[in-house]
Amino acid sequence: MQNVQLSWNLYKTELETTVEKHCKNCGHTAIFTDTHIRRHNANGKNIYRFAIYKCEKGHTWNKKLHIYKTYSEHVETVDTFQEEHQESLNNISIMSYKNTGTIELTILLESVHGFFRIDKALATYISEWSRTVITEKIKQGSIHLNGQQIKPNAKLTVGDCISIYM
Ligand SMILES: [Zn+2]
Repeated sequence: MQNVQLSWNLYKTELETTVEKHCKNCGHTAIFTDTHIRRHNANGKNIYRFAIYKCEKGHTWNKKLHIYKTYSEHVETVDTFQEEHQESLNNISIMSYKNTGTIELTILLESVHGFFRIDKALATYISEWSRTVITEKIKQGSIHLNGQQIKPNAKLTVGDCISIYM
């Protein structure tokens, strides 16, 4: 019998990204999804970094991410595929806890930057459990938030405590 406590810091990443905005080509509001393709446009002394988004019809929109200075005269345009950085300090293997006899896993949220639903956050950071599995466990009551049964779409805030019962 073992109770393990972890601390997580949640940051909004570039991964989970859909944006609702007007599409010039569609002529109405559309949902743009991040293609995870990043583009660097160098323009004189600045490098602009864009994320390429697409609407349902495939029209592109370049979302400006960063501007940084270049000290070289060399000007080029580079398209890059961004690796999906799922690796993070928060990532855990639930099976390895289970295998070492953990019966309750408690996750304290030390900081929360952005909007996070409990089901999505857990699906992102727990390697072996899909969002479907997590939704099921929340409904069954084997995942609690602050000692209470919650809905899968419950919002996470700083100081929250997630309990997972194996
Ligand atoms: Zn469009």
